[in-house]
Amino acid sequence: MSEDLDMETIGHFIQGQVQNSGTRYQTVFNPSTGAAHKQVALADHDTVDQAIAAATAAFPAWRDTPVIKRVRIMFKFKQLLEEHADKICELIGQEHGKISHDAMGELQRGIENVEYACAATEFLKGEFSKNVGPHIDSWSEFQPLGVVAGITPFNFPVMVPLWMFPMALVCGNCFILKPSERDPSSTLYIAQLLQQAGLPDGVFALVNGDKEAVDYLLHDPRIQAISFVGSTPIAEYIYQTATAAGKRCQALGGAKNHAIIMPDADLDNVVSSLLGAAFGSSGERCMALSVAVAVGDEIADQVIEKLQAEMQKLRYGAYHDADNDFGPVITQAHKDKVLGYIDSAEQQGAKIVVDGRQAQVAGFEAGFFVGPTLIDAVTAEMHSYRAEIFGPVLQIIRVDSMQDAMQLIDAHEYGNGTCIYTRDGEAARYFSTHIQVGMVGINIPLPVPVAYHSFGGWKRSLFGDLSAYGPDGARFYTRRKTITQRWPSANLRESKQFSMPTLN
Ligand code: NAD
Repeated sequence: MSEDLDMETIGHFIQGQVQNSGTRYQTVFNPSTGAAHKQVALADHDTVDQAIAAATAAFPAWRDTPVIKRVRIMFKFKQLLEEHADKICELIGQEHGKISHDAMGELQRGIENVEYACAATEFLKGEFSKNVGPHIDSWSEFQPLGVVAGITPFNFPVMVPLWMFPMALVCGNCFILKPSERDPSSTLYIAQLLQQAGLPDGVFALVNGDKEAVDYLLHDPRIQAISFVGSTPIAEYIYQTATAAGKRCQALGGAKNHAIIMPDADLDNVVSSLLGAAFGSSGERCMALSVAVAVGDEIADQVIEKLQAEMQKLRYGAYHDADNDFGPVITQAHKDKVLGYIDSAEQQGAKIVVDGRQAQVAGFEAGFFVGPTLIDAVTAEMHSYRAEIFGPVLQIIRVDSMQDAMQLIDAHEYGNGTCIYTRDGEAARYFSTHIQVGMVGINIPLPVPVAYHSFGGWKRSLFGDLSAYGPDGARFYTRRKTITQRWPSANLRESKQFSMPTLN
C-alpha cells in the first residue's frame, strides 16, 4: 500500500526523532469501531540500519555511564509514565480495544518493571571473594552485551516492551524495539517519554515494521541479543534464527492455560475469578484461563450453571466506556479465527452453552466483537482445545480425578500458566510441585509473577534458558566476567608451577 496522505502515519523513533521513512505502510484499525484509524510505516533495510548504527555509536558512552546515572533516567521515566497514564491508556484503547481500567492495569504492571530496573545499583554490584588464594582476590562483574533488540506482541503494547528495555538499558545496553504493527501508537508514545526522561539520543530506537524488519534484526551481526514475545510458531523461528546467527535469545510463545477445579473448591470464588481470567481483555492474554478442568460431573454442572448466570451480566463494548468488562478482539481476521474455533468445537461434538458468535454492540456494529462463549464437553482431541484461541472463549473439560487433570495439562504442548482451586493444601502442594508448567496459581487465576520475580513458561511456551524480567532479565542482558587478581611484590613471587593450581 502506498502512503495515504489523509491518514495519520505512525513513524519510527530514531536518534531522538520521530521519522517516517520507508515505502511500505500498513493500516492500523480501531477495533471498537472497525474503522481504519491510522497507518504505520513499515521499516525497510535502510531504516533498521540507521537505528542499529546510531545504537552502535551510542554504546561506548552509555556503557561507561555510571549505573546511578542510568537509573536516574528510569526514575524520571517512571514519573512521566504516571503523569501521562491517561494518554497512554487512551492510545492503548484506540488501537487494542482494551477498556481503560484494564489498560491502566497493564501500564501499572509495566511501571513495576521500571521500578525494579531502578534497583540496578544493587543487582549489578557483582560478586567478590577476598583471599581465594594467597594474596589473591576474585570478583565477577556483569557487563552489558552491546546493542540488543526486542520484538513484542499486540496484546500488551506497553507492558511487554517495559518488561524488556528498562532492564536492558540500566544494564548498559543500547536497545532497538520492534513493537507490534497492529497497535504501535502507545509504544511510540512511551518511547518519546523515555527521551524526555533524559536518555541520550541513539541509546534507544523504535522501528515499526513486520517480518522484513524483524529479519534484518535477526541477521545483523551488530545485534547481540534478541528478546521476543509472541505466538509460538514465530517464537520458534526467532529462537532458531537468532541462535544460529550466534545471538543470545529468549523467545516467549503462546499458551493454553488450564484451571483445575477440585470437588472441595469454593465455587463462587472459582466462578468470579474464572470470569475475569477467561474473558478479561477479550481473552487476549497469554495467561488467560481458557480451559476449566472440572474434577467430577457434579462440579462441572454446578460451575456451568453459575457461569451461565454470571455471563449474562457481562458487558462488552467500546474501549472508552469504563463500565464495560472487556472490548473487541484486535482485527476482523482475528475475530474470524476465533469464530472458526467455536464452529470447529461444535462440529467435533462439543456443546456451546453460551454462544458469543452473534455479538453486536449498538452503535459499534462494525467493531470486532466476540461475545463471551462457554463450551462444555470439550475433549483433548478437539482442534479448539489443542490450539490457542486467544478470544473470550472458556472451554470445560470433565475428568474423574486430579491425576487425570494433571496428565491432560502435562500432555499439552504449552506450559505457560495453570492454577488449581481447592481447599486441600496437600493436593495444592502436590500439584505445584509436579505440574509441567512454568507459572502456577493456587486459588489465584492469573499467576503473572511480580516484577521482582521472573516470567516464563515451560515446554513450547518459552524457547531459551532464562525467563523474562526480574532477576533472569538482569542475567539475560548482561555477560558475566570473572577476574582473579594478585599484586606481586619481591617477597611474593611465585615459583614455576606446571600443575593445576590448588590450595593443597
Ligand atoms: P505474533 O507472533 O503474531 O507477533 C509478535 C511479533 O512478531 C510482532 O512484533 C510481529 O510483527 C512479529 N512477527 C509476526 N510474524 C512474524 C514473522 N513471520 N517473522 C518475524 N516476525 C514476525 O503475536 P501477536 O499476535 O502479536 O501476539 C499474540 C501472541 O503472543 C499469543 O500467542 C500470545 O500467547 C503471545 N504472548 C505471549 C506472552 C508470553 O509472555 N509468553 C505474552 C504476550 C503474548
